[in-house]
Amino acid sequence: MILACLDLEGVLIPEIWIAFAEKTGIERLRLTTRDIPDYDELMKGRLKILDENNLKLNDIQDVIRGISPLEGAREFLNWLRTEYQVIILSDTFYEFAGPLMAQLGYPTLFCNFLEIGESGVIQNYRLRQPDGKTKAVRAFRSLNFKMVAAGDSYNDTGMLKEADDGIFFRPPESIVEEFPQFQVTRTFPELREAFIKSKKTVLAG
Ligand SMILES: [Mg+2]
Repeated sequence: MILACLDLEGVLIPEIWIAFAEKTGIERLRLTTRDIPDYDELMKGRLKILDENNLKLNDIQDVIRGISPLEGAREFLNWLRTEYQVIILSDTFYEFAGPLMAQLGYPTLFCNFLEIGESGVIQNYRLRQPDGKTKAVRAFRSLNFKMVAAGDSYNDTGMLKEADDGIFFRPPESIVEEFPQFQVTRTFPELREAFIKSKKTVLAG
C-alpha cells in the first residue's frame, strides 16, 4: 500500500485567511505561507490583527461556512482514495476545518489547535509539533510506508522532500524555481496524472 499526503488549503479548498480578508476588507490578512515562510511570524501577525479588530472565532467560522472546496477537488479526492490511502496534512486548525471536511467526505486530517478564550477570542495557536507535515511523513516512512506528497506552498516543501516523490499543485513561480526537483501541476487532471506516474515510479523503486 502507498500513502498520499495532501496539503489542504490551495489544493482542495481555497485559502481560509484570504477568504476572511476579502470578507473583512483587511488587506494584511491576505498574507499566507506563500508570502511569509515563517509560520510563527505569520500566525502571530494574524492573531494581532484579529485582536486589533475585535474579531473572534465565530467571525472566521461564519466565513468558512460559506466556502466550498475548489472546483473538481471533491472528485479528485474521491479518485485518489481508490489509488492511495490519503492523509491530509495541514497547518490549519480543527476549529476551522470542520465544515469543509464534511463537504470532502471526512478524509483523515492531521492539523493544529487554537486556544479559545471564554468570549470566543482566539488567544493563541498550538502546533502539535513544529514542522508537523515533514515529521508526519518521516513517521510514516518509519512504519515502512511508501508515499507521495502534494502541496502548493513553502510549508509543503519539507514534506515533499521527505516523501518518496513530491508534486506541486498551482505553486507560485518563485517556489518552482527554488525546488526544480518536484513535478508541477496546475489542474486536477494534471495532478491525477502526476499521482499515477509517481505511484508507478515509487513502487518500482
Ligand atoms: Mg497550501
